[in-house]
Amino acid sequence: MSALMNTYGRLPLQFASGDGVWLTDDQGARYLDGISGIGVNALGHAHPAVTEAIQNQAGKLLHTSNLYGVAKQSALADKLCAASGMSNVFFSNSGAEANEAAIKLARLHGHKKGITTPNIIVMDAAFHGRTLATLTASGNRKIQAGFEPLVSGFVRAPFNDVDAIKTIAKQNKSVAAILVEPIQGEGGVNMPSQGYLTALREICDKHGWLLMLDEVQTGNGRTGKYFAYLHEGILPDVVLTAKGLGNGVPIGACLASGDAAELFQPGKHGSTFGGNPLVCAAALAVVDTIEAENLCEHVSVIGAKMREDFEQRIGKLGVVKSIRGQGLMIGIELREDCPELVQAAIARGALINVTAGHVVRLLPPLVINQEEAEQLTDIVCKIIEQKQESLTGAA
Ligand code: PLP
Repeated sequence: MSALMNTYGRLPLQFASGDGVWLTDDQGARYLDGISGIGVNALGHAHPAVTEAIQNQAGKLLHTSNLYGVAKQSALADKLCAASGMSNVFFSNSGAEANEAAIKLARLHGHKKGITTPNIIVMDAAFHGRTLATLTASGNRKIQAGFEPLVSGFVRAPFNDVDAIKTIAKQNKSVAAILVEPIQGEGGVNMPSQGYLTALREICDKHGWLLMLDEVQTGNGRTGKYFAYLHEGILPDVVLTAKGLGNGVPIGACLASGDAAELFQPGKHGSTFGGNPLVCAAALAVVDTIEAENLCEHVSVIGAKMREDFEQRIGKLGVVKSIRGQGLMIGIELREDCPELVQAAIARGALINVTAGHVVRLLPPLVINQEEAEQLTDIVCKIIEQKQESLTGAA
């Protein structure tokens, strides 16, 4: 590890193989995966459909570049458009790059409207990636500090505050778009009020702004619909996805509809690797499997049951502030910082994540079954009960 740049505080674990929701480390110990590589392994590990798609494609063709047609890229774009209600897709290699494409679309849109310095409204506690523009768009000073000068053209608003957006609309005539996560992931699994996206849609329509939804974490079935905005029945102008789309191969996408879908013309944007035959073959297997196995419905049922079980068992503990989420995106907010719970879970054979310092975040594979979900719930309850004991001396 010593030759690696020091970008991550890594846990002392290395995995050798995986199977479904289970990971096996290099010492042979098994762990129940409650975080899916930060929301990536939607179909779990070594899913046969993905493995087969990758093996078949690897034997034929890995890459040709976007100088030529890529049949599987077109097929994947069609499927994503059918799932989302969007009309056109640009493929990137990560979530941050998908967001970069959206930021460029917003600027093109603004310039087309005659705005010389277009602004994008972004939210407190947002996370959009680690490139310069996306870390500027993110609402976390820690990830920005040291990288100044940041990128100009972003205006910040509190998350879930429609009035704040209306105030900005009155004061700032240079806004071209809103960029927002339907549920904030890294920020702490922060849920907006019902109707928030609908209200943003109305404001965007009124002012001719693009509504751009970062579904990098919430997309691909995670919340119980293919994309989280589908719970509200609205259509955005731009949707960003990545993570679960490739189940582990690096792929992201920027989907757009209406005028936003026409903004990029040859020479305006690109990627050498973006949407190559290998990643598209894997992603096609993912999208097909989510549909064929009716995983969105499964996620809704299993996720609701997990949250209910958490409520019943630990909801009344003093240390638990709130239990929230949608589908299999679950956050348990504690009243105390709790980074040590990650190790406590490992000691009991499960992988979880703590985000924003005090929110236990669960993003298990969508294919988790009832028994596995109960095991995961039990381990998470035990470590939180233990935390409560350590604070009060009694459970
Ligand atoms: N957007 C959201 C909502 C995310 O959760 C993430 C990653 O956690 C990103 C963007 C950045 O994605 P990537 O790490 O693939 O660049």
